[in-house]
Amino acid sequence: MPVTAWAHSSAVEQIMKMAKEDNRTMEHLDILCNRFGGRLAGSYACETAEKWAKKCFEEWGYDVKLDKIGDMSVGFSRGGWWGRATGDENMVLHFATPSFTSGTKGPQSGHVVLEPLSQIEFERNKARLKGAWVLIECPTKVGYALPRGDSKRFVTRRDAILKQNNELAQKQGRYIDRSKMNKSLPCLLYDQMVEAGVLGFIRSTPAPLNALHDSLVVRRNHTFEMIPTVPDILLDEEQYARLHKAASERRNVQLEFDIRNYFRPGPIPYHNVVAEIKGSKYPDEYVIVGAHLDAFDVSSGGVDCGNGVAAVMEAARMLSVAKARPERTIIFILFGGEEFGLLGSKAWIAANKSKLDNVSIMFNRDSGPLPYVGFDVPKSLVEEYEKVAEPIRQIYPEYNFKIGVAEPMERPNKPRTADHYTFRYWGIPASPLNMADSKGYGFDYRKVRHTERDDYQSVFPDYEEQSAPVLAIIALGTANLSKKFPRDEFFK
Ligand SMILES: [Zn+2]
Repeated sequence: MPVTAWAHSSAVEQIMKMAKEDNRTMEHLDILCNRFGGRLAGSYACETAEKWAKKCFEEWGYDVKLDKIGDMSVGFSRGGWWGRATGDENMVLHFATPSFTSGTKGPQSGHVVLEPLSQIEFERNKARLKGAWVLIECPTKVGYALPRGDSKRFVTRRDAILKQNNELAQKQGRYIDRSKMNKSLPCLLYDQMVEAGVLGFIRSTPAPLNALHDSLVVRRNHTFEMIPTVPDILLDEEQYARLHKAASERRNVQLEFDIRNYFRPGPIPYHNVVAEIKGSKYPDEYVIVGAHLDAFDVSSGGVDCGNGVAAVMEAARMLSVAKARPERTIIFILFGGEEFGLLGSKAWIAANKSKLDNVSIMFNRDSGPLPYVGFDVPKSLVEEYEKVAEPIRQIYPEYNFKIGVAEPMERPNKPRTADHYTFRYWGIPASPLNMADSKGYGFDYRKVRHTERDDYQSVFPDYEEQSAPVLAIIALGTANLSKKFPRDEFFK
């Protein structure tokens, strides 16, 4: 069926009807965020979400499988986290911990000390370090765990800084001037402080709090036994400044933290959820629609990338209910392990090398919970896509969905940022479609992504509900084009 006839087919009409009358996008998002929560690879939430998504696709009649990407060396899940300051400073503490870092041993309270920056300072303060929360002054990479490890490069650098500080402290003698010390690396005396009995480390971080992961556990496969035993706390910078002042003045401040971070021994497998509807005319040609199922767990991943998963799943459901018969095969992929380095898209490519030449285009929804406002396509496809877009403009005139002409783009020299770059890297056309904050809600992706604000509430239902039927119509329209995406027009 040529696209012109397709645009008025009963399947498309049915999707247009469902867009307004039976749109379940927000229901999927509710389950992802509010039942499962943050879904990092290696978490119970991730395993549950994978199973749930598979079951949904099955119920909608898809051929679906969990494709293993790899194993996490340990599993990690969060309970709640609370903290407060008492004494000279009284406040409920606003903080987070990176994932794959330690929690407390029940509620633990203690006084506050500044991190010793030299061996001499450590020896002088050793008794005070026992049972203390240690404030780290060195700037660190936002969101990540404290740098540590036993790599030669790391140890050499740390020891050089420590040596420099030791010599300076020696010269300074009785009164140590901390402002002169080298503070380019935190926790120079990490092991000694832990041995001395510190309760944990506290760093300053801007709000909204951003909490990522410990890359030694995640990327270097640290085992259950190698996990640090004390918490690594990222505290709101305003509160940190108050505590730092109090500690510098040696005032009486007590902190209590109760952080429930749970590990389990691995290996814990994680997967891509892959659902397929066979093409009626070109079963060996593919249109891919994807989003990533994993999400950081400082919040519940509504924006990055729950909104993408919800829209992709609802698009799949709509196509199934509408009994769409695409001419090319449509593959829906919920990628795993995106946040740990696009692991799911890289794994799919590696396992499907024979299909790559026959992928027409990959659509990825992972740039925020915004509505679709257009699609820039190679010149030779503009006319056909004008037809494809007709029903979209009809249901959503307010978003003024436009087909534009795409200039050929440079192929990226490595996969980065999001799963569609993995496809582009391999020479496969891939697009997030054009999105915009059309109604001016003031959405700023950078202020939500990977922060405590990334939850169900950050997704605008009207925007989000538009995205699923648009994805469904674009995917079906693309599967029924007269030809595959011309790669020589897509790339330079
Ligand atoms: Zn993402």
